[in-house]
Amino acid sequence: MAEARITLLPGDGIGPEVVAAARDVLAHMAGVRDYQFEFTEAAIGGAAVDAVGDSLPAETLAVCEGSDAILLGAVGGPRWANRDGAASPEHGLLRLRQHLGLFANLRPVPVYPALAAAAPLKTELLTGVDILVVRELTGGIYFGPRQEATEGGAATDTMVYSCEEIERITHVAFRAATRRRGRLTSVDKANVLATSRLWRRTVEKVSRDYPEVTLDHLYVDACAMQILRSPADFDVILTGNLFGDILSDEASMLAGSLGVLPSASLAEGTFGLYEPVHGSAPDLAGQGVANPLGAILSAAMLLRHSLELEEEAAAIESAVSQTLEAGLVTPDLPIPGGQILTTQQLTRAIADRLV
Ligand code: NAD
Repeated sequence: MAEARITLLPGDGIGPEVVAAARDVLAHMAGVRDYQFEFTEAAIGGAAVDAVGDSLPAETLAVCEGSDAILLGAVGGPRWANRDGAASPEHGLLRLRQHLGLFANLRPVPVYPALAAAAPLKTELLTGVDILVVRELTGGIYFGPRQEATEGGAATDTMVYSCEEIERITHVAFRAATRRRGRLTSVDKANVLATSRLWRRTVEKVSRDYPEVTLDHLYVDACAMQILRSPADFDVILTGNLFGDILSDEASMLAGSLGVLPSASLAEGTFGLYEPVHGSAPDLAGQGVANPLGAILSAAMLLRHSLELEEEAAAIESAVSQTLEAGLVTPDLPIPGGQILTTQQLTRAIADRLV
């Protein structure tokens, strides 16, 4: 798609700085390729609470609905801690995800050789690691019927999955595997949970549509071990909401820094919301030191999934790799021999490497 309407939701803390960086890279790409990207900024999170008393104003929702894709920074911070309902920044983001039907969460975990030393695992284990976690985002135990505990009593959470919910996320994961190295690991707890047995049967059924992809199944406990013991064995990991929440955070540690990790939350079709994995880092806000790579790599995912511009997405990812290989980093990545740049300088270094 050479013309696109992109909503920018900067949010709070370092959100505005990293979204500005990602927008600059997208604008630079549009200039190089002669594409028309129209950016519209809208308020979300604490900034929206301060402006209009609602962390997801109706106007923001309307702008999002009228666009092809959304790029978000981060929401929240101590200023709005302990607020609830419409006055809670995090609640605004949850409502947005739910309203837009963003059921598929994609969290790639690339390991850049330049950053391997910053990860807690031995460097030799990290060679060749490139994992994509595909997590179901709008079903499972976080959304099932629940009962809060009464005084001295018991509480209940219910895990519910339908065939349809499992099928649609499984298709997303298989399609991703066909574009990558053709391996899919489905993670469940089928030895214990009825929802997991349905999950496994459904994934098997869908797999017949993708004979070129090699499928295997792992119990979630075994997967948690395997991610640390042999992370390079994984290509795409497909899992439900609860297991995906935990495993994607575990896998993110392989990358060496939270600041470099992107994510996508996709609806049916090509619409999606893209955001760095990190939060609003209030301790860094306004200093020009935030690492923009998570947001810039999220912009690359936006090009790939929502605008179907694969080559352009790969060009941004390659520019990020080259920049890291050249030792150019923000202060959160003190690599040996590296040169520390500001958010804007690093963004410029990436844009300069785009062809
Ligand atoms: P955080 O990700 O904001 O920060 C954790 C640590 O990582 C901090 O030391 C921070 O300085 C550092 N860090 C994070 N992003 C960085 C970047 N781009 N460059 C350099 N360093 C970076 O997590 P937190 O401190 O637990 O949360 C802060 C606020 O963010 C909270 O209000 C939380 O609710 C919110 N949050 C929002 C989202 C979201 O919007 N999706 C996600 C997580 C946390």
